[in-house]
Amino acid sequence: MRFDLKTLPFPADVSVLKVTIDPAFCSTCANLNTASAFGMVPCTAILMNLSSSIKKVDRARRLLSGIESQSIPSTEKLVSWELQISLADLKNSSAAGCITCLLLREVLINVPNGHIDWDDPALYIVVIFCDKTVLRISVARDRDHYETDSWGFDMSYKLLHNEPDMDDYQVYTLPTSPCPWPTLGCLMNVEEPKSSIPTKLGGLASHISSDPNSPVFVEKVQNWINNCKENHPICIDAEKSIYQPYLPEKIISLGPESNMDIRLIEAYGLPHEPYFVLHDQQEPRSFSSLSECQDLEYDSVEVPYDILPQVFQDAIIVCRKLSIKYLWINALCENHDDDDDWEIAKEKTAMVYTNAELVLISTGSVDGNEGFLCPRKSPTMISGTWPDGRPFEIYARPWLFHDPDTMDWLKGKSPQHASRAESFQEQLLPRRRLWFSEGEAIFDCLTSTSCECGGFLDSDEDPCLPLRRVLKTGAKYINETDESWIYHENWRNLVAKFSQLKTGNSPCDLASISHLASRWANGYTGRYLAGLWEHDLVNYLRWYPIDEEIPDGDHEGCQVPSFLGLSWSWTAVTRKITWGSATFRNTKSFVTIDLSRTECDVNSVSPFGPVTSGHIFLTGKILKVGVRDSKRLFKEGVDRHVGFRSQETPRNDLPLPQHVFCLRLCTKSYTINSFDDDCALILVPATADDLMRQSREVQVSRHVYKRFGLTNSYPHKTWNHDKEASEVSIYLI
Ligand SMILES: [Zn+2]
Ligand SMILES: [Zn+2]
Ligand SMILES: [Zn+2]
Repeated sequence: MRFDLKTLPFPADVSVLKVTIDPAFCSTCANLNTASAFGMVPCTAILMNLSSSIKKVDRARRLLSGIESQSIPSTEKLVSWELQISLADLKNSSAAGCITCLLLREVLINVPNGHIDWDDPALYIVVIFCDKTVLRISVARDRDHYETDSWGFDMSYKLLHNEPDMDDYQVYTLPTSPCPWPTLGCLMNVEEPKSSIPTKLGGLASHISSDPNSPVFVEKVQNWINNCKENHPICIDAEKSIYQPYLPEKIISLGPESNMDIRLIEAYGLPHEPYFVLHDQQEPRSFSSLSECQDLEYDSVEVPYDILPQVFQDAIIVCRKLSIKYLWINALCENHDDDDDWEIAKEKTAMVYTNAELVLISTGSVDGNEGFLCPRKSPTMISGTWPDGRPFEIYARPWLFHDPDTMDWLKGKSPQHASRAESFQEQLLPRRRLWFSEGEAIFDCLTSTSCECGGFLDSDEDPCLPLRRVLKTGAKYINETDESWIYHENWRNLVAKFSQLKTGNSPCDLASISHLASRWANGYTGRYLAGLWEHDLVNYLRWYPIDEEIPDGDHEGCQVPSFLGLSWSWTAVTRKITWGSATFRNTKSFVTIDLSRTECDVNSVSPFGPVTSGHIFLTGKILKVGVRDSKRLFKEGVDRHVGFRSQETPRNDLPLPQHVFCLRLCTKSYTINSFDDDCALILVPATADDLMRQSREVQVSRHVYKRFGLTNSYPHKTWNHDKEASEVSIYLI
């Protein structure tokens, strides 16, 4: 239906005090109007969030300035509201003539995927609105519907549940054509009136191309790339700093449009040309027909287009449209021989990803054969005219969830992706990436992230962005005064992220982190010691596991020799680990590490290779205490128990130690004098078995310990640590 308005849905100038007596006032939908919403307070079906941050207002002004027909929003208007409306109320109110209720009903009837049972009494919609911002509608179910009614009140703000098949929708206008409802706008912010989560600031709403093969889409991608190459200092710098002009050893030459001359070629000696990489998420495929004709005698093999999976064909199409002649796909171009060792193999793949013009990633389809250039649903359009006869258009589409944290290709849809910690380096090394996600394409580079719908516009909130910048340009573009700090803090973030992806202690996975370490190392880091850096070693020792142990995954076919765990290194545990979120800046340390007597033996030429044994030599004070239930420490005669984090999960075949030693490690700078909560390593003496694998120097020492766990609440005062602990110099193995 059309919305040809005789009057505005709600008078623009009515004051809050008079609002509820205005004939247009609707207590069902609050007219989707800020003044009406204020007029409804205090009604428990409506919630507001007054925290309209300066940042939000500034950004809104910046985005909207210069657009004709857009007025500049005022701070007080950017309050967000959340309103619950039962479907029955919406139906009745629209029948009674509320034009705004009618509009909401029209959206729900026509929106893509919409399948709403209007007669279901437990169904509600939750509407979130804010001036100039896209409106969000969630369909939810009131699980306690009948129960609540039997108590006879219906005024409370209910805890509604979104069910998996009930999607969220957004209603938006294009920036250049506002509509008569001031809260149906174009700012793609995500408001959360119910919680204290700050607004997630987006860009300006724009349509998603319904066909990713269309020139409109290609132009959008080309603009993203051009903007990155011309206007992003970080990206320009990273591009300059790459090695010599580079083409991978083997690459697919795409030939003419006819697809008649696609060839896998040896690129040696060819002039440098930009190339794309398709990051193929699937398990390696076999191409029997191709591998049969792949004879190393020839430096060029024809690749028949028709035998390629749809994903590969789509990548070829994208290259062609963006005038790129070469494409690298791991399954076809894998560029290392079986006898290469892990370092060479990792380095070769790293070079391919580092130097690519663009890396294409498909996250939308579960099955790689589906391809990623599939048509998208067009938005629902609702049109009408303003009271003065001007036309307007309002659009509705399914809500696309935008969380920078999900910009992580390893968290793909199919379960096997989750275990690909192995390709962690490939995720961090590209300069530019183009993601084909389920509803739209997303572009990101070393500067920012943008997407088709406008949810991301020059966003720099990707938590991996600092890591990627350090890997490409060092500390130069990270806004910090202390450069060495950047390296250490970010390395801890990197490892914590990496450990989220682990499914076991796969040597292949660890090779991935080792290779990143080889790119991370510099004067600030010092030597690489089994996942930790020599400088700032005390803080590196403060890792702890955050989940249960995972059984070792299946890592057959992995060429890397197995990794011998060291109790002090996080690489020894098959669990997700963290260093916590508190800053380690200016912590005071109580141990002295003698780096000249601290060693890691690696069984390769590279210092980043697999470790065979290693130890840290340190001097500090240790106190013998008891262990209870494998989780708590106690001191004889003192009425204070403390928890600790054991790094091993208890095993039935290994008896728990009765006693352990607490090594007071460091204290927080901000609680230095007030709290009794230091950080201490929990140690156990090494066994004869452990010593067998150690060097002679360690074997003859009387003080060899293994790390058993960590506590962040060591009561050094209560336990009289200073007086009762004994100072020792120990080897930590
Ligand atoms: Zn209404
Ligand atoms: Zn860029
Ligand atoms: Zn988007």
